[in-house]
Amino acid sequence: MKQEFKRDGSELVSCAPVSKWNDWVEYDAQAWPRKVARHYELIPTICFNCESGCGLLAYIDKETGKVARFEGNPIHPSSRGRLCAKGPAVINQIHDPDRILYPMKRSGPRGSGQWQRTSWDEVLETFGGRIRKAIQEGRGEEVMYHVGRPGHDYIMERTLQAWGIDGHNSHTNICSTAARVGYTLWHYADRPSPDHANARFILLLSAHLESGHYFNPHAQRIIDGKMAGAKIAVMDPRLSNTASMADYWLPTYPGTESAVLLAMAKIILDENRFDAAFVRNWTNWQEYEPGQTFEGFVESLKRHYERYTPEFAAKESGVPPETIIRIAREIAEAGSRFASHLWRGAASGNLGGWQCARALMLLHVLTGSVGTKGGHGLNAWNKFVPRPFSTPPPQKGWNELLYPPEWPLCQHEMSFLLPHFLKEGRGRLQAYFTRVYNPVWTNPDGFSWIEVLRDENLIGLHAALTPTWSETAWFADYVLPMGQSSERHDLMSQESYAGRWIGFRQPVLRVFKEKRGEKSDRTYQANPGEVWEEDEFWIDLSWAIDPDGSMGIRQWFESPYRPGQKITVDEYYGWIFENSVPGLPEAAQKEGLTPLGYMRKYGAYEVTTDVYRLNEKPVDAEGAQVQPNGVLTKNGKPVGVMIDGQPVVGYNTPSRKLEIFSRTLADWKWPEFALPEYYRSHVDRHEQDPRYAPTVDWPSHARGDVYTLLPIFRLPVLIHTRSGNSKALYEIAHKNPLWVNPVDAKKLGDVRTGDLLKVHTEIGYFVVHAWVTEGLTPGVVACSHHLGRWRVNKDDQVERLSSAWVDLKETGKGQWKMRHLSEVEPYTSGDPDTRRVWWSDAGVHQDITFPVHPDPISGMHCWHQVVRVECAGAEDRYGDIFVDTNLSHAVYLKWKALTRPAPGPDDLRRPLWLPRVHRPVDDAFYFNR
Ligand code: SF4
Repeated sequence: MKQEFKRDGSELVSCAPVSKWNDWVEYDAQAWPRKVARHYELIPTICFNCESGCGLLAYIDKETGKVARFEGNPIHPSSRGRLCAKGPAVINQIHDPDRILYPMKRSGPRGSGQWQRTSWDEVLETFGGRIRKAIQEGRGEEVMYHVGRPGHDYIMERTLQAWGIDGHNSHTNICSTAARVGYTLWHYADRPSPDHANARFILLLSAHLESGHYFNPHAQRIIDGKMAGAKIAVMDPRLSNTASMADYWLPTYPGTESAVLLAMAKIILDENRFDAAFVRNWTNWQEYEPGQTFEGFVESLKRHYERYTPEFAAKESGVPPETIIRIAREIAEAGSRFASHLWRGAASGNLGGWQCARALMLLHVLTGSVGTKGGHGLNAWNKFVPRPFSTPPPQKGWNELLYPPEWPLCQHEMSFLLPHFLKEGRGRLQAYFTRVYNPVWTNPDGFSWIEVLRDENLIGLHAALTPTWSETAWFADYVLPMGQSSERHDLMSQESYAGRWIGFRQPVLRVFKEKRGEKSDRTYQANPGEVWEEDEFWIDLSWAIDPDGSMGIRQWFESPYRPGQKITVDEYYGWIFENSVPGLPEAAQKEGLTPLGYMRKYGAYEVTTDVYRLNEKPVDAEGAQVQPNGVLTKNGKPVGVMIDGQPVVGYNTPSRKLEIFSRTLADWKWPEFALPEYYRSHVDRHEQDPRYAPTVDWPSHARGDVYTLLPIFRLPVLIHTRSGNSKALYEIAHKNPLWVNPVDAKKLGDVRTGDLLKVHTEIGYFVVHAWVTEGLTPGVVACSHHLGRWRVNKDDQVERLSSAWVDLKETGKGQWKMRHLSEVEPYTSGDPDTRRVWWSDAGVHQDITFPVHPDPISGMHCWHQVVRVECAGAEDRYGDIFVDTNLSHAVYLKWKALTRPAPGPDDLRRPLWLPRVHRPVDDAFYFNR
C-alpha cells in the first residue's frame, strides 16, 4: 500500500492495508485533543449507487458494532480504491431516519398513504399463494417483475425461469436501449468496453468523465489516457465539466451527431486512411453488393457517403467543417488506439439515436480499433457472469406486454409503455413487483402510471421492493424494504476496463456478527429493523409458491450440498466461487481460505486481463461445415468463421463478422438503414422527414417560442431517485434550473437567472427557474435529471430533505395538477442534522410532463422534447405542473403508427439471432409454434 509520509513515527496511508483490516486503529477525531484510539474491522462490499460496482470498505466500530463510514476498497481491480461522492454517501442511506425498516402493507385505498406493519411470513404467504394460482391456471404472464437498478447478475433471470414465466421487465428502454441496438447490429455485444487508459484519441458522446456509465472506473482511466498523451474530444450541446476538460468540444445541435460521425468516416475513406485489411477481413462487405470485389465495395461505400461532406455536417450540427476534418484526421492517426464512448445522451435523446452507435462503430471499423489495445472492446469480452450450480430451462411463453409485435427489433422490454398497453386491454397483472424502480417519477408520462397503479382491475397486487420511499411505492399494496449497498448479497461484474473481474456485495453487519459467532438464518436478522435482501426473498418465495416441490419450482432452490433442503446464500455463492470462477479456488488455497472465504475477505477478484482480439481466438473446426460466406456451422448453428484460411471464433452475428451491412434491418422492413445512416431526429430544427418523425400537436394553452429541451443530463452526485435519503449529496446538489443561452434569454424578454419560466410540452407544462448561461447552444434549453422529488403528505415517509410537499389533484378525467405547498424545510428526526437543513429547493419534476416517444426501431423512449417556453404568468408558481393524460395517449398512438410490425421472415416475432433479456425457447420467437 502506498505510504504517503511518516511523522512522529506514525504513518498516513492512502488506504488501510489488508493486513490490518481485522483491527484498524484510528484516533477519534471528536475526542481531540485527547488521543483516543478507536478500533475498526474493515469488511468489503460493493457500492449499489450506480451500475459501476465500485468496491467499498465498511469501517465497523468494534465497540459499537455500527458502520462508521465507507471508503474505497484498494483491492478492487476496477475502482482501485477510488470512489465518487455517492460511494461514501452510503453511510447516509443506511442511517437515514426516514428509511423503511419493516415490511408494510396498505391499510386504506391505494395511494392514501395508510400503512400497517406486516411480517415477512405474511408477505411470502400472500404472494406465494397468488403466484402459485396464476401459474397453475396457465396465467403465468400475469406475474411480472419490473426492475430499475438490477445490481446483480443472473439470479433474477434464473428465478423467473425456474417459475417458468416470461415475466422480466426492465427500465432499459428509458435508459440505454438505443445505443445498445446500434452496437448489437454491428457485433451482437450491446455495449462498448473502451480501453481508455491505452488510447491515443478518445471521443466521448456524453458527459462521460463526470457522470457517465461506469463513471468512476472510466473517469480514472480516461484521465490515465490523457496523462499518457491521449487527446479527448467531447460531442455534447452542453458545456459539461467533461467538455471543459477536453481538447475539443463539439457542441452539436441535438440529434445531428450521426451526421458529424459519418462526415468523419467519409474523410477517412476519401483520404484512404482506413485499415483496409481489417475492413476486408472483419466486415461482411460481401453482403452489400454480392459478387462485388473489395475495391469495388470501397468505391460504393465512398459513393454512398458522398453527401456527408463536412459542410453538410456543419450545416446540420453547427460544428465548423474544419473542426470535423481535423478530428477525423486525428482519429485516423490514432488508428487501432481510438477509443470512444456512447451510452445515453445523443442515442437516448433522439428519434433514430441508435444510428449514433452505428455511425460511431463505423469509425472504429475503418480505423481497425475493434478489440485492440487502446481501442473498442466488447462488453461480452470483459464482463464475467459465472454460472450457478443449476440452470432452469428457458420459459416457453412470449409475453406481448413485454415484447409486443410492433417493435420486433427492440433490444429490451417496452416497459415504459406498460400503462398504455394495460389501458388498451392487452393484459392485466395479478402480481406485480417493482424493484428499485420508480416509474411514476423516473419515466415519462408518470401520471399515466399513477392511473394504472391505482386501478385494481389492471394491477391486482403490487409490491414495491425498495431501499427507499418513492413516489411509486406510495401507490403499492406492499412496501418491502430491501438492503442498501452494505446490506445484501449480489455478484457484480462490469466491462469497466480491459480486464474481467468479479465483485461480491455482502451484508457487512451479518458478516461482522458471524465472525463473532452470532449466526443469522436470514439477512434481515442482522440488518437494521427487518431490512432484507432479494436473494433470500426470492429463494423463500419460490418455496412458498411450490412448498411440496410438485410444481418443479422448488428443486432449483434446493442446496447442491444438502439434497432436498433449502439453499442458503452461502451455498449459492460458495458453489459459484468453488466451481465457476477460473483461478479463484487456487488463489484462495494459497491463503488457506475457501473460495467463499476469499471473496468475503477481499470482496473482488480479477479473472483475467487477456481480453484483446478475442474474435481471433481459434475455434475447433472438426465436424463443422464451411458455408459459402466462410461461416462455420455445427448442427445448423454458426460457431466460427474462416479468416485467412484459419477457423476462428469471430463475432456472434449471423456473418460472424462486424455487420457493416445489416441484413437484419433490410429483412425486417428497414432496408434504407442497412448501412449506418443519419436521419433527422424528432427535435431537429430543419424540416423533418414525415416517414420517421411525427409532427407536434400543441395543446391549446401552449405559448412561447419553440426550443429543444435536453432533459437527461445527470448530476454526478445524485442517483436517479435513490439519493433523496443522503443529506451529504443533497447538500451539494438540489436545484435543476432551466439552462438558457443569453441570446434566448433576451428573446424571451430579458430573462435573468432566477426568473420563472413556463415550459410547455405536448401534454402539459412545468414552471421552473431560469439559469442564463453561455454553456449551451442557442435554440436549446436544458434541465438536469434527478431533481423534483415530491410527497403528498407533509410529514410522512418520502425523504423530507429532498422533496417538496405537494397538492396533487385530478381535476377532470386525465387532468392532473400539482402545486408545491412547501419546499424543503429543517425538521426534527433521529438525526440532528435534519434540523440544520439549509437548502429549500427540491427542484421541479419535469419527466412527468413528457409524453412517451417510442423509437420505431430500437423501442427507446426518445427523451429530448420540442417545447415552447414563455415567461411564467402571475398565476404560475415555481414547481407547478399540469398534464393531460388523454393527450399523452394520443401521442403514444402517433409514435406507434411509425412502427413496421412483425412478423418478419419465417413468421418470426423477432430475429432469432438477436439477444433477448430472459430469453425463452426458440419456438417462442415464432408466432405460430
Ligand atoms: S461510480 Fe460512484 S456511485 Fe457508482 S459504484 Fe462507483 S462509487 Fe458507487
